Amino acid sequence: MSKQDVDADVVIIGSGVMGGLIATQLAKAGKSVIIVEAGPRVSRQEIVERFRNSPFKMSLTNMKLQGVGSPYPDLPHIPSTYSSYLQQTGPVKYPTKYLRVVGGTTWHFGSALWRMIPNDFKLQSLYGRGRDWPFGYDELEPWYGVAEHELGVSGVDGQDESGQGGKAWPPRSTPFPMPGLPTSYLFQRLTELLGKGGYNPVLEPNGRATRPYGKRPVCAGNNNCNPVCPIAAKYDGSMHIDEAERLGAKLLDNSVVCQIEADDSGKITGIWYKKPNGSTYHLRANYFVLAAYGIESPKLLLMSTSAKYPNGIANSSDQVGRNLMGHTGISMNLMMNEDIWPGQGPTELLVYLNNRDGNFRKDFPSYKIKVRNTVPTADYAASLIAKGVLGSKLDEELRKQSARALNFAIDFETLPLPENRVVPSKTKKDAIGIPLPEIYYSVTDYWHAGKEERLKDFAKFAELLNGDVVKIDTNFQDRQHIMGTTIMGDDPKNSVVNRDCQTHDHPNLFIAGTSVMPSASCMNPTLTGAALSLRLADHLLKTMQSA
Ligand SMILES: Cc1cc2nc3c(=O)[nH]c(=O)nc-3n(C[C@H](O)[C@H](O)[C@H](O)COP(=O)(O)OP(=O)(O)OC[C@H]3O[C@@H](n4cnc5c(N)ncnc54)[C@H](O)[C@@H]3O)c2cc1C
Repeated sequence: MSKQDVDADVVIIGSGVMGGLIATQLAKAGKSVIIVEAGPRVSRQEIVERFRNSPFKMSLTNMKLQGVGSPYPDLPHIPSTYSSYLQQTGPVKYPTKYLRVVGGTTWHFGSALWRMIPNDFKLQSLYGRGRDWPFGYDELEPWYGVAEHELGVSGVDGQDESGQGGKAWPPRSTPFPMPGLPTSYLFQRLTELLGKGGYNPVLEPNGRATRPYGKRPVCAGNNNCNPVCPIAAKYDGSMHIDEAERLGAKLLDNSVVCQIEADDSGKITGIWYKKPNGSTYHLRANYFVLAAYGIESPKLLLMSTSAKYPNGIANSSDQVGRNLMGHTGISMNLMMNEDIWPGQGPTELLVYLNNRDGNFRKDFPSYKIKVRNTVPTADYAASLIAKGVLGSKLDEELRKQSARALNFAIDFETLPLPENRVVPSKTKKDAIGIPLPEIYYSVTDYWHAGKEERLKDFAKFAELLNGDVVKIDTNFQDRQHIMGTTIMGDDPKNSVVNRDCQTHDHPNLFIAGTSVMPSASCMNPTLTGAALSLRLADHLLKTMQSA
């Protein structure tokens, strides 16, 4: 199409970290870009105030981490995932909490920004499980470096992130942009006690500033990463959207894309979006990038049916929406017999990775144990009051629990199973007539074998820490990491996008984010999604130059 026939060179659907990174790269290169975003703009001040003033809702897990009483909008055209928006149809619930606002879900993410390790890319050929990636760690390594720079990651250079306490791993060609955060008394004391059992501490690389970084101040340890960093020391996607707009990209907020259309040759010709009042608009572009995250992206593709594409867009393989992965986990609450003072610094920093990789992956999954550095005092108070503890006894117990109660969470790698999938509901719609997402999720014996193994770690932790186990929760905890639903591969018959994140069926449609990942590892996936998105932007620019 000529310039006159299109509204922009590139239309990007979704203004989260992936959409924002790509928009910034394209706008910097002088391309005209329109970002279409379902949700409204929000201001940090407004979110912080709403969080502070929100009425407490009982949650014995962790109010801040699980985000109960979310301060983010719940509007008719973007019903909140904290409501009953996600329709669960499988034996295991997948209650993920993504946000639909300008900047996306990273507004309330924990900001753990990990690289995967080389063997995570070869799960099938090494261990006979899951799928291999079409390329290895070496291909993504430079892009991990760019992503760490873009997202402003602080971390410990030279650390062995395989958890073996050995040489620096995985290999890096660039140092972390910022040094790691200092450790608190809690982390030092745990390191001392758990070290006696051979558990090597690993300090999490994360998107919190340890020196002024762009407009970001240094992390002041507000311990409020979820649901919002009050001072913007933690990265979130709105930062790249601001940058993209400064470079000339145009953002349409409160605009929910409801249809992607393609001509008979496979070329994507346009998209339709709806405003909150239900009115519908059309946009044309030469290239389209779908960056609506792991539930809404496949849902939109599957909703976009037509006579030529009865199974939806990009779905000749029937893989769109399938292979949904997460880091389905378990946790342990422990009461220490000494004051250990959680809550100082960020909500998480210290992890244990003694079995991140090895031949055991043939039999059970890779996993990570994280120490939750939070003090959910309101939860403690509600629980004590419910048991009739009042007055000075309540005060005494609250002081004790705040200083001694710990939570350890295990995240397991899961595998891409075709039956675990997202589809648009055939019966339920939101206020503007868009189908709600239906999610079928399950775990296999592989996960259960991992759970049995890791309960041994919990027992050992309790012993080494001389703590009393208060609760062990094995009820398939969701860890908020959506992967696999537009899976990458070389074979168009069993994958949705190719190694460049370009859909096999439509050369001018690309998909950005963690939904393209063929394996999950046990690590938070956003940095991998960001590295893939930056690589996608580079490929797209080269494609545009040669067209
Ligand atoms: C509580 C929580 C904690 C987390 N912590 C971590 C962590 O510590 N480390 C980590 O690596 N990951 C973490 N994650 C995951 C991380 O937030 C995601 O990987 C990341 O936000 C994905 O970015 P994205 O741009 O793909 O999607 P999003 O950030 O969700 O952005 C997608 C955007 O697309 C928009 N959109 C959706 N559908 C449409 C449509 N039809 N039309 C127009 N726009 C649309 C949405 O409104 C949204 O703004 C966490 C997630 C949660 C919920």
